[in-house]
Amino acid sequence: MFLEPGFGAQRAGWIEVICGPMFSGKTEELIRRTKRAEIAGQKVLIFKPAKDIRYDEQKVVSHDKNSRASVPVVKAKTILEYANGANVIGVDEAQFFDDDIIEVVQMLAIRGKRVIVTGLDMDYLGNPFGPIPALLAVAEYITKVHAICQHCGSLATHSYRISEEEGEVVLGAKDKYEPRCRICYNMGNILNFTPRE
Ligand code: ZN
Repeated sequence: MFLEPGFGAQRAGWIEVICGPMFSGKTEELIRRTKRAEIAGQKVLIFKPAKDIRYDEQKVVSHDKNSRASVPVVKAKTILEYANGANVIGVDEAQFFDDDIIEVVQMLAIRGKRVIVTGLDMDYLGNPFGPIPALLAVAEYITKVHAICQHCGSLATHSYRISEEEGEVVLGAKDKYEPRCRICYNMGNILNFTPRE
């Protein structure tokens, strides 16, 4: 569990990244942290990429259907225009943002904001996803969360695509992906086995 550092002792803001595969509870953890920040009297604003409208156009929604209001933006730099007035900035699904997001979160931290970013660390091919590796490099705090492997029950680190579509960005949920551990992920790629019913 992530325990927040105190706000008072630090001169500038900082960056937290929550990353892991699909269904690992990243958005759930973002919602938990931002709720706690509000209890502490902080003003929170959450942004998400406009292209991610799987569950809702205006909210961030976890796979468990927990939700919070969010501002959909097309370009990462737009976040800077809206961020004034908030102490805590959430950025959900950061892997879908352009590379400017790396500079944007650092500018926000310099301005004294606590920035909480979530994102998929790897795409469905197991490769580092978009700006996430760079965000991990510049963050003060990193939390890797895991899902449960649909095949063997181990901790899952990979997002296995069960649909036939190709391309790095195919939006979907349980209809298109399942979490798998490293072994089952790789076995799936070799044998193309289907999950247990
Ligand atoms: Zn497994």
